[in-house]
Parts: sequence; structure tokens; C-alpha cells
Amino acid sequence: MNIHEYQAKALLKGYGAPVAEGVAVLKVEEAEAAAKSLPGPLYVVKSQIHAGGRGKGKFKELSPEAKGGVRLAKSIDEVVAHAKEMLGNTLVTAQTGEAGKQVNRLYIEDGADIARELYCSLLVDRSVGRVAFVVSTEGGMDIEAVAHDTPEKIQTIAIDPEAGVTAADVAAISKALALEGAAAEDAKSLFPALYKAFNEKDMALLEVNPLIVMKDGHLRVLDAKMSFDGNALFRHDDVRTLRDETEEDAKEIEASKWDLAYVALDGNIGCMVNGAGLAMATMDIIKLYGKEPANFCDVGGGAGKEKVAAAFKIITADPKVEGILVNIFGGIMKCDVIAEGVIAAVKEVGLKVPLVVRLEGTNVELGKKILNESGLAITAADDLDDAAKKIVAAING
Ligand code: GDP
Ligand code: MG
Repeated sequence: MNIHEYQAKALLKGYGAPVAEGVAVLKVEEAEAAAKSLPGPLYVVKSQIHAGGRGKGKFKELSPEAKGGVRLAKSIDEVVAHAKEMLGNTLVTAQTGEAGKQVNRLYIEDGADIARELYCSLLVDRSVGRVAFVVSTEGGMDIEAVAHDTPEKIQTIAIDPEAGVTAADVAAISKALALEGAAAEDAKSLFPALYKAFNEKDMALLEVNPLIVMKDGHLRVLDAKMSFDGNALFRHDDVRTLRDETEEDAKEIEASKWDLAYVALDGNIGCMVNGAGLAMATMDIIKLYGKEPANFCDVGGGAGKEKVAAAFKIITADPKVEGILVNIFGGIMKCDVIAEGVIAAVKEVGLKVPLVVRLEGTNVELGKKILNESGLAITAADDLDDAAKKIVAAING
């Protein structure tokens, strides 16, 4: 689950991290009042959407020369003018896709005088099984290019979970970021605070880009992106209340209501599978035969008829889907029961695209017979390979 920048900053502030004063607003009048409450003379007007790259983003409705989704203002009038231009319009960034995201909320922040823009993120480094700091002196709006062209400028410092962030870790991170003086002093509290927040709130990612050294020598968190581990949300009531469903994929929200593990992807073949491993294998084999999956969908081991139907609705609601591959291993459930479930789902939600079903496990012959005799345009497949070939062939016409 992702949250907005202004929420992430409030959370980090609670851990003692240095963030600027700011106010989140939904209306132009509120933006004016917010700016008046800040010290000035520099203000920043920031689009609050769940996507990065806002600074370099473009508003669909404005001319290509218009400023992006993060704008500096030198007066309250300028704040108001920016707010008028930005609110309600659609921001397209490198991360939003072509459709962009409507900007319904702005964060009006006290502006900083920047000396250097650094990159600092925390993530779970699976290669070492530890939470790691990933840092670079080349922070700001081009970190993707740095990672691509000069990866040696990005350093990773993994943290021993028993020791936490030690003085030696802080020194290593500070060295990697070439911090001196007041910034190096600030680092002693900031990096342990970021680590503490990451662990206590079960984050999957905490990205501060840029972390800045200000002209006065101190550090400040200038941007913050936060993702939380969905499986740990049940123990964080405070984090759950930060959810903004308007920013999420409608299909994924519906899936979460049914306890379906569903992730929307970019391809054309909708997948319904039981078990995460089988779902991954199904996606792999679709790619092997030259197509792309439209989604990851694990209905779970004991899915009943209603859950199968719900998954079907979600998969078919995606206009990109040109064909569906159902790949189910009947272990706990029997294949004939699954076949009945699939048929009931198809009858309920209709079927406008080819559907290939591969069943394996208990009562598989009976299951296939039921599918074949259903009178519906369902193609039964013998194994995973056969299933992938058949759905790709059906789509290719
Ligand atoms: P992003 O483009 O979505 O990553 O949004 P950021 O919050 O990172 O802002 C983009 C850029 O705007 C930063 O890299 C800065 O260069 C600039 N910026 C943001 N806030 C300030 C500020 O307070 N003062 C100044 N001078 N520049 C800022
Ligand atoms: Mg940024």
C-alpha cells in the first residue's frame, strides 16, 4: 500500500526527521490560507498523487511549456496561480502511464534553499536478507538515469537487524553521501530514525529523493515515498487510515475485498490460478510463448464458486484482456467441483473472449468431461504447456 508524500512526511516528522512545514489542501482558497500560514518567502506547490516524477511531469490540459507538478512560488499570489492551474488537472509523469493522474490535492510547503540533492532509500535487500540503505550523492529528478548510466555512484549499506543502525553504519552512509559539518551531525539522528520508522511500520520501501543539504548546512527530507507491506497492515491501524483508494487500481481494490491476490499487469492474457507458485509459472510460460499476462491472480487453495466468479469478473472487467487462461490444481478441491465453479462463473458474467482451462489433480477426468459437455466455448487443456499454446493460438486468431 502506498501513501501520499504529505502523509509520509507527517509520519517521518513523528520520528524526529527534519521536514518542512506544510499544509495539504483540496481547494484554491485553502492553498492561499495555507501559504499565509507559512513563513515564506519561498513556497513549494506539490501535486499529491501516488506517482513519482512529478517535477518533470506535464499537465494534459495545459500547454507543453507550462510548469510541472512541483512548482516553486515566491509569493502568495504565485501559490494561488499555481494552485488554480494544477487542481483538477491531469498530471502525466514517467510513472503514471499515458493516462496520467488527476491532481485533487496539493501540498503547500515552506521552500528550502538547496545546496545539494542526495538520494536515500531503505528497502529489504533480499540478497543479504537485511534492510539496506541505498544512497547516492546524485539525488534529485534523474536518479533512474544515474542507476542506468553510472551504477557505481549508488551505494548499498545493509543493516544488521540485531545491532540496528550503528555509529559505523551512520559513518559509512555519511561518507557515501559526502556529508560534513551540520549535515553529518544531523545524520546521526536521521538515519537511525528512518530505519526505526521503516521497521516499526513494516514498510516495503522508504525513498527520500531528494534528501537535501540546505544552504545552512542542515539536512532536510524534501520528498518522501512510502510503501507498506500489505501483509502487515492488519497490525497498523494508523497506517490503514492513510489509504487513498482513489489512487489505487479499482480492480485491485475489488480483489482485496474477496481476499484474492491480484496484481494488474500490462499484457492481454488474463490469468486465474490457485497458488502463487503456479501463478508465477503460468505467467512465465505465457511469456515463453510470446505473450504477456494481463494480471497475476491467485485465488487460493480453497476457493469456492463465489470467489472464482468474483475473480472472473475482475479479470474480464479489464478491457485489455483478449483471452483467459485458468490453471488450477485440484488438491484440496476436486477438479469436478472447480469445473462446475468455472462454468457457473462463465454463465453468470458471460464470456466475450477465448477461455482455456487446464485442470490437474483429483477427479481430473470428470472435471474435463464436465467442461467439454458444458456447451460453453471453453477449451480444455492437458497440461501447462498445452494450455499456454492454446490460449496464445486463440488470441493470435
Ligand atoms: P518528484 O519530481 O515527484 O520526485 O518531486 P520532488 O518532491 O522530489 O520535487 C522535485 C524537485 O523539485 C526536487 O528535486 C527539487 O529540485 C525541487 N524542489 C522541491 N522542493 C523544493 C524546495 O523547497 N526548494 C527548492 N529550491 N526546490 C525544491
Ligand atoms: Mg522526488
